[in-house]
This record gives sequence, C-alpha cells and structure tokens, in this order.
Amino acid sequence: MVELTYYPDEVLLRKAHPVADIDAEIKQLSQEMVATLYQAQGLGLAAPQVSRGVRLFVVNLPNDNPRVFINPEVVETSVDEIMLEEGCLSIPGTFANVLRPAAVRVQARDTNGKPFTLSAEGMLARVIQHELDHLNGVLFWDHLPERRRERLQKKYTAPQSVRS
Ligand SMILES: [Zn+2]
Repeated sequence: MVELTYYPDEVLLRKAHPVADIDAEIKQLSQEMVATLYQAQGLGLAAPQVSRGVRLFVVNLPNDNPRVFINPEVVETSVDEIMLEEGCLSIPGTFANVLRPAAVRVQARDTNGKPFTLSAEGMLARVIQHELDHLNGVLFWDHLPERRRERLQKKYTAPQSVRS
C-alpha cells in the first residue's frame, strides 16, 4: 500500500517524468498502486497521487482486470464528446460533470515493458483521460469554467494528513 496525497500537494500540479526503466521498483509501485486503488474503491490512480512524479497510472474498473499504463500517450481521440461526472481520490468529496472525448486510443507499456495499444470508450476512456491528465499536473476541475472551478476550490478542504 502507498499513501494517497491530496490537493493542494504540489506533486499533483507538476508534470511527471517518463519512466526510464521498468525495473523491480516500478513493478512494485504498480502493484502497490493497484492495492491502494482497490482499498480506496477508486477507478484509477496515477503515480503523482501517491507522491511519485513518474508517468504511470493504474485503472481498475468493475468486472475487468486491473490495468497498468506506463509512459502512456493518447494517439487518437474521438470527435464525439460526452459529459460524465468525475471525482478524484486526491480531491475527496468533490464531483463535477466534465466534457471530454467519448473514445480514445492510447499507447503505453505494461509492467513487462511490452508496448500495447488500446482503444477505449465509455468509462474506461474517461478514466484513462482523467489519469493521463494527472501525469501533466492537470486536475479534473481544470476542465471547468473558471467560476465553477473556483466555487469547488473554495468549498474543498483537504483531509487531515495522517503522515507523521
Ligand atoms: Zn484524479
């Protein structure tokens, strides 16, 4: 298990670095992130959300196996956009409808270093886009009109840190 970090921790606002080497440490981080995501009952978790500034995220949708994306790139997005409600483990208690492309095609590497390409739609496409944003220091409320974002930010209070 790895510890979640919360907005406004600055690791969440920075661009993450590419994973240079998919070594034992990265494999372990992936496993721990899957366990943490499962425990937190979230759908996706990006490395900056556990204070690691590397380009890696995990997705765990109901009725699917956990998926690990290392150095992911979106290579194609649909013209169609849909509105879906999003929340974020790093901004607990905050939800908003966000408009994004309905489908994406993403390239990444798995924990064996093997490249793969995935076409995703629906909830999977949504979670992938949300998590990829985290690798660029972008949070879901950054997609909202400024006034709506400011209202959410004002209402938000970060959970008490359990770190000693
Ligand atoms: Zn998030």
